[in-house]
Amino acid sequence: MRFSGQVAVVTGGASGIGAAAVRRFHGEGAAVVIADLNAGQGEALAAELGAERARFVATDVADETAVKAMIDAAVATFGRLDILFNNAGIGSRVHTPDLATEDWRRVIAINLDAVFFACRVAIPLMKAQGGGAIINTASISGMAGDYGFDAYNAAKGAVINYTRSLGISHARDGVRVNAVCPGPVDTPIIAGIKEVPGLWERWSDAVPMGRFSQPEEIAAAVAFLASRDASYITGVALAVDGGLMAATGQPN
Ligand code: NAD
Repeated sequence: MRFSGQVAVVTGGASGIGAAAVRRFHGEGAAVVIADLNAGQGEALAAELGAERARFVATDVADETAVKAMIDAAVATFGRLDILFNNAGIGSRVHTPDLATEDWRRVIAINLDAVFFACRVAIPLMKAQGGGAIINTASISGMAGDYGFDAYNAAKGAVINYTRSLGISHARDGVRVNAVCPGPVDTPIIAGIKEVPGLWERWSDAVPMGRFSQPEEIAAAVAFLASRDASYITGVALAVDGGLMAATGQPN
């Protein structure tokens, strides 16, 4: 029960890694705001957890007004904000010569601008409260590059360095800011990989552990970074990737 009495906001909380983090935070005692575009799944998860400590707030994280309203709703409903998990994201496997400007902007808006919008509102609140923890979902695609994911790689790389910047800027305010960098996770965002014959197996084989992770394995690392167990950790990008970033790429 590391989060008893605390309040968490999770963007992209209706599915995948976000939903696993919602369950984890709630399971360890937090009240949780589930923010997502997907009202069906978000409302269902909130209903399952119960109104006492869970609420769904329909949010497009690319819209700065909606992001402010999301955080305002968390404070209005549960009285404070201790944990912000900026996790909503979209993938895009399009090479630059074929990448439309509007698609580039959409990927940057959801994966990067949204993190800025939420941090801008959350940091002063947390500082005034005496502290807080922000975790941004980057990716190992922000540490190296995933073939063809040009805009996504750019956005996730920027999330990592923005996290470092916020980590150092607010280290003396009691606000810790860290990034989690998942390797391949079995969630709907990468459903397309299952449609290409053999690709799932090739991706799995590239991971030293030989498999995709489950979203709960990423949520466990997020909960650690959000908790007092990580009280001396800020500005880091933590790979949770089955050893992928440690490997040279030589086949097993
Ligand atoms: P997912 O598709 O299961 O969840 C993403 C959630 O974000 C969905 O509920 C979706 O509705 C929501 N979302 C998308 N656009 C939004 C918007 N504009 N406003 C609000 N919500 C929005 O996928 P996931 O794998 O759980 O992805 C979570 C994060 O993890 C993303 O940032 C993704 O880039 C990152 N990530 C995923 C993997 C992977 O292999 N699955 C690897 C590295 C990083």
